[in-house]
Amino acid sequence: QKIHVSLQSSSYDILLAHNELAEMLKGYRESWRQYDQIVVIPDEHVWQLHEHYFREAMTMNGLENYLVKPIPAGESSKSIDVWEEVQTFLLQQNCNRNTLLVAFGGGACGDVVGFIAATFLRGVDYCQMPTTVLAHDSSVGGKTAINHSLGKNLLGAFHQPIAVLYDSSFFDTLSEKEFRSGFAELWKHAWLSDANWLQELEISVLQNSWRSIPWVAELTKGIQVKVSIVERDVFERHERKYLNFGHTFSHALEKGIGYSEISHGEAVAIGILFDLLISAEKGFIPHQLVKEKITFIHSLGYPLNKVSSVPFENYYELMVRDKKATKTGIQFVLLHTIGNPVVETIEKKLLLHAYHLFQQLIE
Ligand code: NAD
Ligand code: ZN
Repeated sequence: QKIHVSLQSSSYDILLAHNELAEMLKGYRESWRQYDQIVVIPDEHVWQLHEHYFREAMTMNGLENYLVKPIPAGESSKSIDVWEEVQTFLLQQNCNRNTLLVAFGGGACGDVVGFIAATFLRGVDYCQMPTTVLAHDSSVGGKTAINHSLGKNLLGAFHQPIAVLYDSSFFDTLSEKEFRSGFAELWKHAWLSDANWLQELEISVLQNSWRSIPWVAELTKGIQVKVSIVERDVFERHERKYLNFGHTFSHALEKGIGYSEISHGEAVAIGILFDLLISAEKGFIPHQLVKEKITFIHSLGYPLNKVSSVPFENYYELMVRDKKATKTGIQFVLLHTIGNPVVETIEKKLLLHAYHLFQQLIE
């Protein structure tokens, strides 16, 4: 599968396949040989698991001269320290502007390597090789970031990759928790897209084990939704805000109970349920639909029981601080109907009411 991304500043392809990394690299081997250096920056855990397969695919394409600089696994790599350490490595290796960086790992690796690429010598090329389900979201759209001690994703840049090569065979080693986390963002894209796909996707998840879901087909649809929104609004002035569906409540939940207690996507699935409930309270969608989706999410093992461990006042405080507040309330992405999102400011009173209702429904 191939999806083309066409932006004013750049355009590139996203390739998806199962167990075909070498094949996907074929189209790039000539252009990659033109770089003075290729530096592969893998998540160290991913490197342990998949180094052999990666090297084989590169070798099959005559790409043998590259450096490898592994970074810590997962979220801990999105730090100023790692950012600086890799920059130092690149400088010591005499890398110049004509360098290609390859991010090989999940969303965290893609975010930090993208930001390193955006800032090294004022910007060099990079390629995304995502290895998680969640990274179908993070590898597309060019948002790159690292964390600051005062908050997540606070330092970053918009910097588009030159290609996204997405091989779903890496999912073989993902844990159930990682599948659950990634599925939430795919589910989000379905809500923003259309009712038919949403239904189809939910059936597919209920009928298959996580590993046997036809990921290439489903992720292609998810990426298409994201790409079409990003193409219309790359800098998040209007429509790109819709991609925050589920993310107002989820950010407060993640912060409120601690990042180590719940994964991003697990929180997003719960945040989507909360946004659906507000949409129902506003009279946009039936309450029955919300109840069905709570049952669905519950059956997949998302930790709904954690919602009540944060009191409403804490959620409210966290949401106010999360850049989405105005004088009259907090901005939420709601659904008029499936596939028709709107951004609305919701006042505290309604949020309190919805929170109590939510607690009752998920008990
Ligand atoms: P991650 O990159 O932290 O990976 C999760 C864990 O899975 C890590 O421990 C990693 O080592 C491991 N892992 C990765 N691939 C594996 C594989 N194939 N087999 C076994 N283990 C594997 O998490 P993620 O969920 O992929 O991404 C989350 C990050 O993405 C967050 O930092 C979030 O802020 C970011 N994000 C960015 C955007 C964006 O637009 N830039 C969008 C959404 C999320
Ligand atoms: Zn997200």
